[in-house]
Amino acid sequence: NRTPIIAGNWKMYKTVGEAREFAGVIRNHKLEGAVEMVVCAPFTALSALAEELKGSDVKVGAQNMHYEASGAYTGEISPGMLTDLGMSYVIIGHSERREYFAETDETVNKKAKAAFANGLLPIVCVGENLEQRESGQTKENVREQVIRAVEGLSSEQAKQLVIAYEPIWAIGTGKSSSAEDAQDVIGFIRSTVEDAFDSQVAMQVRIQYGGSVNPQNIASYMGQPDIDGALVGGASLAADSYLQLVQGV
Ligand code: 13P
Repeated sequence: NRTPIIAGNWKMYKTVGEAREFAGVIRNHKLEGAVEMVVCAPFTALSALAEELKGSDVKVGAQNMHYEASGAYTGEISPGMLTDLGMSYVIIGHSERREYFAETDETVNKKAKAAFANGLLPIVCVGENLEQRESGQTKENVREQVIRAVEGLSSEQAKQLVIAYEPIWAIGTGKSSSAEDAQDVIGFIRSTVEDAFDSQVAMQVRIQYGGSVNPQNIASYMGQPDIDGALVGGASLAADSYLQLVQGV
């Protein structure tokens, strides 16, 4: 009875005006089945989105944050600043941040803890690169990322965690993982969470697939027993496509 979660990750796209326009299209969408709608936008659009989507079924999230509450960290945004804007979620450890902005398993763990401490739900991203996949290290790599990310979280926190399994070779490439392969890794992630906590936590933690998800292939992922939704980049940018994804659950 986990509620699937469709989260858009806009990455570095959309002005404030474009974000408002998007919100105008989706805000009246009433959820038919049980599915949670989330949009994760650039910092500059968060305030406008929160305002436009207030009272709607759509929740807003950020794509990163610092783990400290405040301080001399030029250019950074704190967890409390996000809560102040009415954010519900924050993406942590996206592979693009790990690759280009020196995000490590250690900072991912600090940020996950800081998110919970501030009333934000983290969407923690894990996933292997092509080399790791081809050399058979997918599970070993993903297990390490998950274990390191959840270190020190309480069971109560871990139950509310969202994990996004995003194989790096599938991101923005149009080469999505097959639903069966994604299920295989995501089932393994769930058993890793069981090892780190217990079966109760493992049953409740939501695990998304991400990587070239679109309205045509969303249903195949949702048909898998352990896949609880998707983290979507490119196909979440147009409002009609985003709504098709939500309806495809
Ligand atoms: P695409 O859906 O564009 O492949 O991006 C996936 C992703 O990185 C979502 O966080």
